[in-house]
Amino acid sequence: MIKVIKNGIAVTMAEGRPIYEKLDIVIEDDTIKELVDNYEGPADIIEYANKKIIIPGLINGHSHHGMAMFKGINDNLTLDDWLNKKIWPIENSLTEEDIYYATLFSCMEMIKSGCTCTNEMYINNNATLKAFKDMKIRCLYGSNFMDINGKGEECFTDYKRVYDEYKDNPLINFSVAPHSLYTCSKEYLRRCSDFALELNVPVHIHFCENENEVNNIKRDYNMNPVDALESLGFLRNKLILAHGTFISDEGLQKLSEHDVSISHNPISNLDLGCGIADISKYKKYVNICLGTDGVGSCNTLNMFYHMSMVDLLQKGFHKDPTVHSSYETLKMATINGAKALGLDNIIGSIEVGKKADLVVLDLEHTTTLPITDLIVDIVHNVHSNNIYMTMINGEIVYKNNMLYLPFMEMEIRDRINSIVKRMN
Ligand SMILES: [Zn+2]
Repeated sequence: MIKVIKNGIAVTMAEGRPIYEKLDIVIEDDTIKELVDNYEGPADIIEYANKKIIIPGLINGHSHHGMAMFKGINDNLTLDDWLNKKIWPIENSLTEEDIYYATLFSCMEMIKSGCTCTNEMYINNNATLKAFKDMKIRCLYGSNFMDINGKGEECFTDYKRVYDEYKDNPLINFSVAPHSLYTCSKEYLRRCSDFALELNVPVHIHFCENENEVNNIKRDYNMNPVDALESLGFLRNKLILAHGTFISDEGLQKLSEHDVSISHNPISNLDLGCGIADISKYKKYVNICLGTDGVGSCNTLNMFYHMSMVDLLQKGFHKDPTVHSSYETLKMATINGAKALGLDNIIGSIEVGKKADLVVLDLEHTTTLPITDLIVDIVHNVHSNNIYMTMINGEIVYKNNMLYLPFMEMEIRDRINSIVKRMN
């Protein structure tokens, strides 16, 4: 099947910052086959993108999609109180079906706001993976490993089961995701590191989210947090650190010598009063991508909202508007995300040979007009109503306000409402 997206303005995020004023994207099945200014060959489907903007699908570097029912749950709690008093007690009462519908709801929110791939860390493998499969969204899936709840062994057994079941699905990739250093024993974390090496998959872990966590690691390990990671074996792994809000210069230097990415989650860090990660400095050492975290602490999975905060926060934090550009932010949400997830050979930019994960933006709205700088407009002014089309793996999953998936949006919305009603 040949699909052609004709006459688009493309921001490809490929090396050298190529932006095309007029481009035809030729897609054969799931793959971008040609990028030309006027394609006249055979086509089964032609989408006319006249005046519309085409960007690579956005990549969410860290989230928990089964937490959709927690949207808006945090008004003024600290990270510790939020986890211990709100999140974990309610999570224990959730059924597999609750998590399935919550994950569908989250995927729907992401697809409608231009996100085509996400880095998941959550509980309940069956529910989450079935939801990702049914929603046809690309993911790096890491079920939460932790042993403070006495279920450490179960995590390994169940992971192996679903890994075998889903590993051939072209949209589902795996990580090993121990929750954090504070929810796992040292021996258990070393096993997680070894296990990820055995499977040749990345490790995804919460790390140095707030200063309290940093101090606790120093106390428990009698060393700096990055040295603690090294002592657990994690610097041997391809590593995705969620948050990393506080990492010392020595720590950054050590991380720079390994395959480490940091997922910056600015809204969640603000919401939980954790602080602001100095990514203007971090980016000189490691790859930085952008995550939303779960809606329990970020309130929206719309990556455009999160993007709009990144460079504003850095400029304010440093009292210097030159430290971070909108283009760097867009990179964080696209190609840097792909690098972090180990998927930059197939996604993250619009290039021949890559999978067709694309978003078509209609900027002919008052929020986005006039366009004086296209990149600034994309990063700071786009809202969900600007998303004209989302394509994942060559398949249109959303177009013109319609989901092209075998679900009734109303049913998913009703389900999530009834779960929240039951929780209260
Ligand atoms: Zn998180």
